[in-house]
Amino acid sequence: IQSRLPNVGSTIFSVMSALAVQHKAVNLGQGFPDFGCDPHLLELVTEAMQQGHNQYPPMAGVPVLRQTIAQKVARLYGHQYDPETEITVTAGATQGIMCAIQCSVHPGDEVIVIEPAYDCYLPAIQLAGGIPITVSMEINEQGFSVNWAKLAAKITPKTRLIIINSPNNPTGSVLQRSDLNALADILREPHNAHVLLLSDEVYEHMVYDGAQHVSVSAHPELAKRAFVISSFGKTFHVTGWKVGYVTAPAALMTEFKKVHQFTVFTVNTPMQYGLAAYLQNTAPYENLSDFYQAKRDYFRAGLSQSRFKLLPAQGTYFQCVDYSAISDLPELAFAEWLTKEIGVAAIPVSAFYRSGMESGLVRFCFAKQEQTLALALEKLVRI
Ligand code: PMP
Ligand code: GLN
Repeated sequence: IQSRLPNVGSTIFSVMSALAVQHKAVNLGQGFPDFGCDPHLLELVTEAMQQGHNQYPPMAGVPVLRQTIAQKVARLYGHQYDPETEITVTAGATQGIMCAIQCSVHPGDEVIVIEPAYDCYLPAIQLAGGIPITVSMEINEQGFSVNWAKLAAKITPKTRLIIINSPNNPTGSVLQRSDLNALADILREPHNAHVLLLSDEVYEHMVYDGAQHVSVSAHPELAKRAFVISSFGKTFHVTGWKVGYVTAPAALMTEFKKVHQFTVFTVNTPMQYGLAAYLQNTAPYENLSDFYQAKRDYFRAGLSQSRFKLLPAQGTYFQCVDYSAISDLPELAFAEWLTKEIGVAAIPVSAFYRSGMESGLVRFCFAKQEQTLALALEKLVRI
């Protein structure tokens, strides 16, 4: 058949994970924890199944989970979403992102994507018939940042959506309140009234050095025109469960639900009940930044003994490094060499650029047990 996504192959995450398995390398490539979740969460999900919560839930998700999400968002970010009309539980963030794009982007619409960008945005835009317009982040000693004037210059009458992602995969950079204010200043212009926002906040609970996650939900002016995306997979160490959620004003959510209901109709019931009960305790997500900061610090301390140059890592469970002191191979070739010859898998940052732009960087995932990180570090410091 004639492909609708002719330039798409397997994702870099699948490719590098397979290579890691093949070469028995320590897999710091694909982002997922190598440790289990809280056993209490497993009990709560099991109880939900035993109590008979095994049939279709309502299309937007079980009411108690939507209410719990509304309370969580209101408590953390001060925005009250209506659980009936403004929250949908999704099959991971990926499905939320796909449906948000399909419901809002018409053929020929332009969508602004800030690069490096997570890999699911561009194919979703392409399937909608949209035209991705990319803006590169700038990089200096402080790490990656968005130049908002550069982004503003890309807005045209055809711009339908701007996608932002903070904490950012792969760079680990986080947007500040001043960034959201700069974006709000741009979108407040009457000639930009047609522009919507998609804010991918799946790493909202992984922000380091005392910084706070600045959610679009906490910015009333931006929240009015935004789909905000989150994922329980990231927050509770259960990436394979694929449960996330989307919040948006009712007018946007009405359109979102039209696509959601014919994409998956709804998401598995027992996990939703289990998660709703588990969310009653705020500690697991409130302590997550400390938990991952300890891993980040351990990994960075180890890498500081190597020839890799560390970039700042303010959020997410990713650490980008500059390998120019070690090799002048292109990023993919270097990541493959690292996997095969050194025994540590990484992800080339070029995979997050449509053009495949090279910056001499690879990304490591530090959501691993200390013994895994220690094993990887032992190999990395010897190069
Ligand atoms: N957005 C970003 C930035 C991600 O890193 C990921 C997961 N790697 C997702 C979305 C998708 O999340 P989920 O697994 O919940 O679909
Ligand atoms: N989001 C994860 C990462 O960035 C991978 C998820 C996936 O494999 N699609 O590594």
